[in-house]
Amino acid sequence: MSDQYTFDDPRTRYPVIDPPKQQQDGTGLQSRMDPVPDLGESTYRGTGRLQGRKALVVGGDSGIGGATAIAFAREGADVVISYLGPEASDADHVLQQIEAAGVRGVGVQGDLTDPGFAADLVEKAVAELGGLDALAIVAGKQVTNKDVTTLPDEQFTSTFEINVFGLFRVVKAAVPHLPPGSTIVTTASLETWQASPERIDYASTKGAINTLSKGLAQQLAEKGIRVNTVAPAPTWTALQVSGGIPADEIPGYGSDTPIGRAAQPAELAPAYVFLTSPESSFVVGATLAVNGGTPTP
Ligand code: NAD
Ligand code: MG
Repeated sequence: MSDQYTFDDPRTRYPVIDPPKQQQDGTGLQSRMDPVPDLGESTYRGTGRLQGRKALVVGGDSGIGGATAIAFAREGADVVISYLGPEASDADHVLQQIEAAGVRGVGVQGDLTDPGFAADLVEKAVAELGGLDALAIVAGKQVTNKDVTTLPDEQFTSTFEINVFGLFRVVKAAVPHLPPGSTIVTTASLETWQASPERIDYASTKGAINTLSKGLAQQLAEKGIRVNTVAPAPTWTALQVSGGIPADEIPGYGSDTPIGRAAQPAELAPAYVFLTSPESSFVVGATLAVNGGTPTP
């Protein structure tokens, strides 16, 4: 494959992965994964679709957010990414890719469970970029637990803090800065509609994000700001190897999709680019499923 526009067979465009069992603490480092996820470093070709845009990618150090940040940069946007402290080396990798695209790339470290972080992040992004007109909220946490009686209150709370409250606070801080034409892209999941019995907290946050985005899209349409959602699954990222799925589900990960394999983050980035680019001007309040063929409502 030479770039994302090359005509080829989607079943074999990326390898059918069969990763060895692996687990990491915290949110995990993508660079330590086997195999290392493909963020489109050697394949994503920009065509000027986000020329001059000022973008904030929340959770842009790795995985889907990392691929999105690289794609935004190659499409001509200046990009601020947020990341957690232990992920600094993953963030550096993405920032190098952004700068190699000839645009501005800035990393801001912080934790979305800290209620003050969202407003800080937005203020720093606005200062670094000289404004803000593209927001992609990709950060999220997923911790597997098969038994509601052992699911700690702290986990239930923190999954909502990161995935839902964090999103709400970022949006709340960002909206006053967003001129007409701006875009917000949120991140749901196939679990929005197909809750896994192993992730009832996570699945409910994804339902909440999707519903919140539908209401917000109507509210902000009146200001000329478009809100849309991407619903990925299953994508090979640090989310799974840091407690997201049981270790014994890692071998063969994603092979049960109709297309027969897991996605690489590089395959999600074009969805964020489309929903951020003015070419999607009449797409408002939509949820774009990128999941290898599983039907969604
Ligand atoms: P990832 O681990 O590479 O990215 C998630 C990022 O979220 C982390 O890098 C981290 O920076 C950020 N994050 C986590 N906890 C945080 C906290 N407390 N404070 C600030 N930031 C925090 O994994 P990914 O799969 O690329 O995840 C991106 C999004 O995609 C998530 O919202 C996830 O729910 C969603 N998603 C992923 C899949 C999949 O199969 N990978 C499927 C459906 C939805
Ligand atoms: Mg990460």
